[in-house]
Amino acid sequence: MVSFTMPLASNSQDPFALARRLRRPVWVYDTDCHSIAFANQAACELWNAQDEASLCSRDLSSGMSLTVAERLKQYQRDFVERDAEFVETWTFHPCDHPITVDVIYTGFVMPNGRMAMMCEVIGEEARTSETVRTANALLHTDVKVALFGSDGTILYHNPAARSVLPSADCSSAQLFVDPGDFPRMLQDVREKGESKFVTQIYTSSGEKWFDLRTKQCLDAASGEQAYLVTAYDVSELKATTDRAHYLAARDQLTGCYNRSIVQSDWSELGAIRRGPAYCVIYIDINKFKHINDTYGHSAGDATLKTVADRLRSHTREGDIAARIGGDEFVVLLNDASSEGDLHKRLNAIQTALQKPFEIGPLILEVGVSIGVFIKGANDPTEWSEALQRADMAMYCSKRDQLNTFTIFDDTIGAAAKERVRFEIEIAQAIANREFEVFYQPRIALSTNRVVAAEALLRWRHRELGDVSPAKFIPICEEMGVIDQIGEIVFDKVREQMSEWYRQGLGISVSLNVSPKQFQHDDFISIARRMTALADFPLSLLELEITESSFVGGETEVARRIQNVRELGFQVAIDDFGTGYSNLAHISRFPVSCIKADQTFVAQLPKSAPLLRLIFTLAKQLQSTTVAEGVETYEQLAWLRDNDCDQAQGFLFSKAIPADGFVTACQRLEARMANWAPAAAPCEDLDVALG
Ligand code: C2E
Ligand code: MG
Ligand code: MG
Repeated sequence: MVSFTMPLASNSQDPFALARRLRRPVWVYDTDCHSIAFANQAACELWNAQDEASLCSRDLSSGMSLTVAERLKQYQRDFVERDAEFVETWTFHPCDHPITVDVIYTGFVMPNGRMAMMCEVIGEEARTSETVRTANALLHTDVKVALFGSDGTILYHNPAARSVLPSADCSSAQLFVDPGDFPRMLQDVREKGESKFVTQIYTSSGEKWFDLRTKQCLDAASGEQAYLVTAYDVSELKATTDRAHYLAARDQLTGCYNRSIVQSDWSELGAIRRGPAYCVIYIDINKFKHINDTYGHSAGDATLKTVADRLRSHTREGDIAARIGGDEFVVLLNDASSEGDLHKRLNAIQTALQKPFEIGPLILEVGVSIGVFIKGANDPTEWSEALQRADMAMYCSKRDQLNTFTIFDDTIGAAAKERVRFEIEIAQAIANREFEVFYQPRIALSTNRVVAAEALLRWRHRELGDVSPAKFIPICEEMGVIDQIGEIVFDKVREQMSEWYRQGLGISVSLNVSPKQFQHDDFISIARRMTALADFPLSLLELEITESSFVGGETEVARRIQNVRELGFQVAIDDFGTGYSNLAHISRFPVSCIKADQTFVAQLPKSAPLLRLIFTLAKQLQSTTVAEGVETYEQLAWLRDNDCDQAQGFLFSKAIPADGFVTACQRLEARMANWAPAAAPCEDLDVALG
């Protein structure tokens, strides 16, 4: 503690003897007791007191505002710590009458050793109420106001500013947590005349956020260049907005960043800035829908959280892990300058994601597809492009079912461009309804007669020629336009069947329904609409669905098939034996026909036991059996010997346009009547039908 002399003392009996002789009002205020310890005659008059004793007996704390009490305590601390002296214009209210005076405050050590405040009136001039109020407002406000010189020395602090100073002797520059802020502020003031920003400041109660506004001015006392600062404490507001930003940028389930951050460019995240060389990793969980459908949504959620945890455990400061879609994640590795380190990290991430997932009592093997784009320091690739490239590389991993990550290169880029062009062509073809439907006959093996036809979609592209549906249908599924294709096919088939029906030809037709179409929530209502439009017996129309449509829970699939059958359609399982379905469970599905996949026919006689099993199973379900892809007489003979009901394949005919179908079938039946097995090669037959 700094010790003070008692300048007004003249002898040890009365420490205030000298002060009593002064004509100006002088009194000593005991801050701890909120009372006056001494007052000279002039002070008594000013305070409107009869004598010193009555003034000293007043309790000045009653009616004192909190801010004044705080300010007085602050003064006392300032006297103790830095021998301070203040000049202030002060309005006080002795006997409810306001008096405004200029007062010098200095520290005064009482005879008992405690610090008190000596108040000496230096002026009591007449003031306008405006100036009095202005001076008072400055004293009472919570806004921190400070004036500092061009060297950073603090020239003036209002009490609110003084109360937050971490120490009495710090300079303006030392107050900023970020040392770059002070010069930045001065530069702004010099260039624009003022500076406004929110920054972190050291205060007596720790680091706080302030909204600082600084203006250049002249010091009224010295006339020299100075800076006037007003500061509002915005710590609470900052904490609230930070929290809101945090929540807006996060995925609620996994706590990772969300899609908005990835789209808006990572650099929005302030401290996290992309390095010149960085790496984007795009991760997609394989068959996530299957996990959700089979084990429930809580297992799906737990899987996502585990993926997020594993990714986060492989990020360093400045990296980001984000969930950008249902089952898609993106990781940014901020520093990709060392190739060796980067590959080590990519391998570690891949290994981590390959480990089994413990989800409650389940242990799941969850596959992921990973694509990587590495941006070199001098690579000008934009952020959005980088993200797209990692996505393309991921798509390659998924398509090729790779067990490792794919790093983007130019061949992937070219393939992706090609694909985009193809998608545009498909969209145009849909808009112009450029598709045709061909029909491939189905032959009853017991009679050698054509009993049905499979409707197969054909797309003749002006440059690419005939494009196989096996190529464009999966792309339509990914593009989300398969329903539109389905509608085109249905319209064409319905018109054709109506025409045949009007001609008295009750030809049954089977129509392929893609798994995506079948799983669509609207599928049953679309099927119902079809029934309203058909003007022929619906039992002539068969919907072919594949086993991959069964993903989604057997009960739900069985219910859908039942609904479709109740509407009047026949239902066939196409390409049977290649999918995931458990052969024993097939009895749960009320299907009218089972079409054994053409690979089994092609692999005869090796596949004979499996085909026999399929036929036995179908017979038990009272379903018709159809063998697809029959190309040779040997295959035909085997199928006849093993009780297969119907066959379809190039041996009989390729798919043909609707207008030639009836004639072609008549010719086919005529030829089949004369068939001597193993005599005519299938090529001859094709020529005959062509
Ligand atoms: P799918 O339903 O299994 O159709 C049978 C495919 O096998 C057809 O190929 C057909 O031309 C071919 N095929 C028939 N006989 C033989 C044969 O003896 N040998 C060989 N190697 N192949 C034979 P396509 O027309 O190229 O159709 C391929 C796939 O595209 C179809 O397989 C079906 O899954 C899909 N598809 C075709 N049309 C449509 C459609 O309108 N809608 C939907 N969603 N998918 C369709
Ligand atoms: Mg089919
Ligand atoms: Mg098939």
